[in-house]
Amino acid sequence: MKTSPRTLPDPGTLPAERYGAFLVVRRGLPLLVAAGAWLAALFHVAGRGWWMLLVVAGAAAAWPTFYRGAAYLRNRASIMRWDGLCVRSLRPLAKRLGREEAWILSFCAWHNHRVREAFATRKARRVLVLLPHCIQWSRCAAAILDDLQHCYDCGKCVVGDFMLAALAGRWNSRITNRSHKAYREAREQRPELLVAVSCTDRLLKGLVKLPETPTYVIPLALPHGMCVDTDFSIAHLRAAMEALVQPPPELSRIQPLVREA
Ligand code: SF4
Repeated sequence: MKTSPRTLPDPGTLPAERYGAFLVVRRGLPLLVAAGAWLAALFHVAGRGWWMLLVVAGAAAAWPTFYRGAAYLRNRASIMRWDGLCVRSLRPLAKRLGREEAWILSFCAWHNHRVREAFATRKARRVLVLLPHCIQWSRCAAAILDDLQHCYDCGKCVVGDFMLAALAGRWNSRITNRSHKAYREAREQRPELLVAVSCTDRLLKGLVKLPETPTYVIPLALPHGMCVDTDFSIAHLRAAMEALVQPPPELSRIQPLVREA
């Protein structure tokens, strides 16, 4: 008896990126300073030189936030250094206000938005998908770090769905149990696009440590706390891969596996 292939969650469309908070601070504040200095220069003739210097500094600080598409990709390393400095320096304040996670996610969403724009017309061909080991059910002994296909697809965690999606899409993917291994993998492979799933803290660290690599990030859900039986949306990952990545040409010839009962 044959059973039909298991269906994966429908990818749908990529969710909207909520980056307003980060953009208000990163672009809005320097522009506000520049506008204030401009007004001051009009009325305070004696200090006009200094005020104009402040106008230029404010405009220069905001300018990189206007890069889009190819210009964004070309300048990404320096953009990420400045944006990383901004997000990390205001992190303690966000923590005090109880908005730390929202602040970091807003930063991630801003760069997701820019990466989506950059790959909207010319999709990426060399892609690496990185996931953390904590998505594996904590009581499972399957050696998925050695080979993803050691997963039995028992349905206890998201790894089974991920394995099916990765095999069907022929994704170049790694599950790693240490951040430094993930960074090393990304540096060695030098992908055109990195798609990374992790907790917000690690996403921030990864974006800052690999500033030159265009990265689309997906945050983990932590229903059992940090690093244990974590979860993420396979539909979101599939939507990102469909929107940003050029499928391999031979994909159309691959037939879905039908299990014999
Ligand atoms: S789906 Fe089942 S076999 Fe696969 S990693 Fe999760 S718990 Fe282990």
